[in-house]
Amino acid sequence: MFKVKAYAAQSATSPLAPFSVERRDPGPHDVQIDILYCGVCHSDLHQARNDWSNSLYPMAPGHEIVGRVVKAGAHVTKFKVGDLAAVGCMVDSCRRCEPCEADLEQYCAEGCTLTYNDRERGSDKLTFGGYSEQIVVEQRFVAKVPENLDLKAVAPLLCAGITTYSPLRHWQVGPGQRVGIIGLGGLGHMGVKFAKALGARVTMITTSPEKGKDALRLGADEVLVSRDEAAMTKHRGAFDFLLNTIPVGHDVNPYLSLLKLDGTMVLVGALTALEPPPMGANLIGGRKRIAGSLIGGMAETQEMLDFCGKHNIVSDVEMIRIDEVNEAYERLLKNDVRYRFVIDMESLKAA
Ligand code: NAP
Ligand code: ZN
Ligand code: ZN
Repeated sequence: MFKVKAYAAQSATSPLAPFSVERRDPGPHDVQIDILYCGVCHSDLHQARNDWSNSLYPMAPGHEIVGRVVKAGAHVTKFKVGDLAAVGCMVDSCRRCEPCEADLEQYCAEGCTLTYNDRERGSDKLTFGGYSEQIVVEQRFVAKVPENLDLKAVAPLLCAGITTYSPLRHWQVGPGQRVGIIGLGGLGHMGVKFAKALGARVTMITTSPEKGKDALRLGADEVLVSRDEAAMTKHRGAFDFLLNTIPVGHDVNPYLSLLKLDGTMVLVGALTALEPPPMGANLIGGRKRIAGSLIGGMAETQEMLDFCGKHNIVSDVEMIRIDEVNEAYERLLKNDVRYRFVIDMESLKAA
């Protein structure tokens, strides 16, 4: 065991503050990573404040982690000391069930082990995330980082990137399709970039008209302001696929009416009840589907990172110090992010 500096919440109502967490000594299949950058996901905020009623404290959030390997166990084949390495939302799974065998560890029948707000497998020890100096993870759950990308802007790919890439690939989004990305935040801005790179015609659907210019710069072909009823009516039946990143339960009915016959809307943000509920008629008329999607498996995470390396895709980031993370959370609540906060972990080491 060794101790590292971290930032943690002690309860749902206490701000994040300096804390110290224990890491295991790396085993034969583990890599020990010195964390350089960690993204700030809206899920960090949800969990720090117990929005999903499943939070374990103390909690050091952070699941968009990039850094360098400082130790590699004797059986580690994927990494050597000095290599870049990345960790996302999970650090373990049962590895035997049907989803695990199909490289879909995020849907592990026993539940995958989350990077934070979880317990290490077979133990009651809490897991702690990337708002910390170092992390120790089994190599299967560590991804390789393409060397050509700006490292601080790679961090958000580990959650915002894979969570948008995976459903776009699963539903085979590509040329000839009209795709709408709902919500221009951390996930949404990656959704726009990926949908465009996959060849679709992309509409950014937003509540914030002032983000329109950015949406076009990020690659959207057009912008639809969801509060503009006339514009929403004009786009009725226009979309093959909608990726909905809205972080809270909301009225999905206006969005369902944007879908074409056989269209699909995938939810990635709203874990809580949809209020008011979806109207049956909005699905039945038009044979429409509402689906959901959770991050992506480790093989697909690597595929996504390699895709980003090839297409030069990274996140648009605003760098912060670790002591600015509570303020960043408040700004997330106001939709004031352009488009992902990333913590420079040097600021924790220096603190
Ligand atoms: P974010 O950066 O805060 O962006 C969310 C965006 O949604 C906002 O910028 C805003 O965009 C829009 N929005 C916010 N509240 C809204 C409301 N009440 N009605 C309509 N639009 C609203 O959040 P994020 O980090 O992208 O995360 C989005 C959600 O995905 C969170 O709930 C997070 O927990 C979840 N998540 C899920 C997975 C998964 O595996 N399924 C993975 C990561 C995150 P506009 O200003 O453009 O309207
Ligand atoms: Zn996340
Ligand atoms: Zn499993």
